[in-house]
Amino acid sequence: SVDTTPITATLFPGDGIGPEIADSVKQVFRAADVPIEWEEHYVGTEVDPRTQSFLTWESLESVRRNRVGLKGPMATPIGKGHRSLNLTLRKELNLYANVRPCYSLPGYKTRYDNVDLITIRENTEGEYSGLEHQVVRGVVESLKIITRQASLRVAEYAFHYAKAHGRERVSAIHKANIMQKTDGLFLKCCREVAEKYPEIKYEEVVIDNCCMMLVKNPALFDVLVMPNLYGDIISDLCAGLIGGLGLTPSCNIGEGGIALAEAVHGSAPDIAGKNLANPTALMLSAVTMLRHLELHGKADRIQNAILNTIAEGKYRTADLGGTSTTTDFTKAIIDHL
Ligand code: NAD
Repeated sequence: SVDTTPITATLFPGDGIGPEIADSVKQVFRAADVPIEWEEHYVGTEVDPRTQSFLTWESLESVRRNRVGLKGPMATPIGKGHRSLNLTLRKELNLYANVRPCYSLPGYKTRYDNVDLITIRENTEGEYSGLEHQVVRGVVESLKIITRQASLRVAEYAFHYAKAHGRERVSAIHKANIMQKTDGLFLKCCREVAEKYPEIKYEEVVIDNCCMMLVKNPALFDVLVMPNLYGDIISDLCAGLIGGLGLTPSCNIGEGGIALAEAVHGSAPDIAGKNLANPTALMLSAVTMLRHLELHGKADRIQNAILNTIAEGKYRTADLGGTSTTTDFTKAIIDHL
């Protein structure tokens, strides 16, 4: 059956807490008999001239070949002048949409019980284009690039996602009143795509108002689509609504059907190497990878084991107010499988 054919997937354990939480994923996958063979790739210690970054050419080839993978967080040193690993991955693999589901976890009480949002972030341009320079001493300039092609592509993905997942509404988040040309073009593209999906409600919300509405009543939203930087910020805000960055997964969708799942959070240097990290976000990301592969049986089993462990409340990591180590929490999930 589909559920037993072995599939090769690329795994980047990443930096900081990455190797610890990637190890949890491997253990849980093994315990659940997931038919995946990991092809592990580490970030290099020198710049690979073929990628102009610390990512090796072989690691990129691995994702291109397998078309599916999981990545741990990768640290980006501030102001060191080399290309961010995450940006390199997104650009080289053309990972144009980042899908970030965010829903209230049963049994883990936060201010809201009814969060059920999907943030879809444009992943290749906007302020993240890496085009910054000094104009004269004391004056720097950063270019925000918005193209019709990338905007249509992410809008199309958002509406397609909404339709495929039985969602009712897509909200385009913008600041087109100020960024008239860039966000204006983004909105124009969203409108064009919206016309092709009359069954999905479409609205436009200014980002500052969106933040206020999300904090006041997150149930007002369903699927949100937005340019790169806004998506970065809004998805952390959404993570805060349900209990923090230890919980929120994501999946990068690339051209030609590539899916590279990763947690929303970073390398958490403050807790790295201490067996304190919450592996939930990376594990739920791995679950999105299984769903992409249509291994829904395995995905359900692992997702339920994670959610039941958190709901039971006996084993929780420190970010959720518990005292469990990463290892103990992982073991509890395996017991729930
Ligand atoms: P961060 O997400 O690493 O950490 C923010 C806070 O959340 C920290 O207090 C951290 O301990 C906590 N946290 C994050 N993940 C957690 C988990 N799984 N369990 C428990 N607590 C968790 O953000 P940061 O400190 O701003 O960034 C650190 C590094 O990560 C930087 O180099 C940054 O560039 C990089 N980063 C990478 C990615 C990525 O690879 N996709 C994303 C964001 C940041």
